[in-house]
Amino acid sequence: MFKVERKPVADLGMDDTAKGLAPERIEKVMRWVLERESDARLRTYVETCIHCGLCSEACHYYLSYKRDPSYAPVSKVRQTLWDILGRKHPADGETVKKYARIAFAECNLCRRCSMYCPFGIDIAYLLALVRRICGLLNVAPQYLQDNTNSHIHTFTQSWVGQDDYVDTLQFLEEELRMDILNARIPLDKTGAEYMYTPHSHEVTFKTHLLANMARILNVAGIDWTMPSTDGWENTNQAMHAGYYETMGMIERKHFEAAFRLKVRRILAGECGHAFRAAVYDGTRWLGWKTPPVPYVSAIQFFYELVRDGRIRIARKIQEPVTVQDPCSFVRNRGLGEMLRYIIRATCEDFREVTPKLEHNYCCCAGGGVINYGPPWKFIRMEGGRIKVRQFRETGAKIVIAPCHSCHKTIEEMSDFYKLGLHVLFANELIVKTMEVPEAMRAVQQKNEGTGGV
Ligand code: SF4
Ligand code: SF4
Ligand code: SF4
Repeated sequence: MFKVERKPVADLGMDDTAKGLAPERIEKVMRWVLERESDARLRTYVETCIHCGLCSEACHYYLSYKRDPSYAPVSKVRQTLWDILGRKHPADGETVKKYARIAFAECNLCRRCSMYCPFGIDIAYLLALVRRICGLLNVAPQYLQDNTNSHIHTFTQSWVGQDDYVDTLQFLEEELRMDILNARIPLDKTGAEYMYTPHSHEVTFKTHLLANMARILNVAGIDWTMPSTDGWENTNQAMHAGYYETMGMIERKHFEAAFRLKVRRILAGECGHAFRAAVYDGTRWLGWKTPPVPYVSAIQFFYELVRDGRIRIARKIQEPVTVQDPCSFVRNRGLGEMLRYIIRATCEDFREVTPKLEHNYCCCAGGGVINYGPPWKFIRMEGGRIKVRQFRETGAKIVIAPCHSCHKTIEEMSDFYKLGLHVLFANELIVKTMEVPEAMRAVQQKNEGTGGV
């Protein structure tokens, strides 16, 4: 039986916090989570699993780590949750650290394995319970804890101040008006059809994505706005850390911004986990069955714009293109065909991946893993080996990845494995190919071309 040696990874958020943990506290937290917060669902899964191992081949970690059985989904549950449930004596800090490594760094909560289990057992839910226990004990990757602290202090994951955010929007609007006549990034408009909410990276080092979105919304003539107040960012790293109280607080702030502006819908940028937090996990934690304001992903929005002729595609990308199906949008929401509609409308040579759509593999960055920082990068790169093989087989030069986490990790994989891939968000694809009507073009753009991206 093949066994991969797990190299030690130094992470203050796990090493230091685990050291001082008293067994009584560990026991108390475990009891709270397993007896008070989880219920029939946990019991049903535990009692239903027949240990058949059919979920193994579904997991990209298992496949990327040469089918080492300890990376099989059921084995990861056996080494963590079942170990906890079967304990006769309280665990110590070192054991919690072992659980944390498996739940945080060897599972992306992507839910692919559930599709291959004959009973549909939700392994991601079980491993998220382990994260919840570890999170409440503060044994979680340091970078993820920092992200959560940032959410608490600034309602953004990247320590973005309110004034920096508003300044950036004003600057981007000025830039956009050099291309598009009278373009606006309207702040705090009441009663608009859409409130756009971005990832905070769109106002820090990926501002071109926010500029692209504003360009598309202006060209399509959409009635939209952005809030100037807290709640403007859509991401939620607290969900990944198991800090559900903070997860709920972030989502409440997000929806309050929409209530205040009385918008009809929230339009969310290209971030898989943000969508999951707003539509499923965060919403339910707050006691709503569905989001209190209709929540539209950028994929669905672009699909409708192209399908309804609200924007016109003037040119097509000629290089071979393939796709990453973000789990949160495709496996867990069924938007894969809409994504392909956009790609086929804008690209001449689309190369399908195998497996595809909801069967596609996770990029190995999901579940917050992309945010654990340099200590965990190598683990993430190795876990993505099956994804790399998939991309190589297509022969594509461009990957469309409409999720910040997928996008970043595929760029890193491309460097690491020398794939020579260029990675694009869907909004970059639209801006590269869409027509800006003559009457909307500012003088500078008429002289210089289409601008954007
Ligand atoms: S990474 Fe995905 S497939 Fe693997 S165990 Fe976690 S949820 Fe299942
Ligand atoms: S496929 Fe389902 S029943 Fe079989 S081991 Fe995996 S989780 Fe258990
Ligand atoms: S990062 Fe992308 S592929 Fe990976 S879990 Fe999130 S949505 Fe899935």
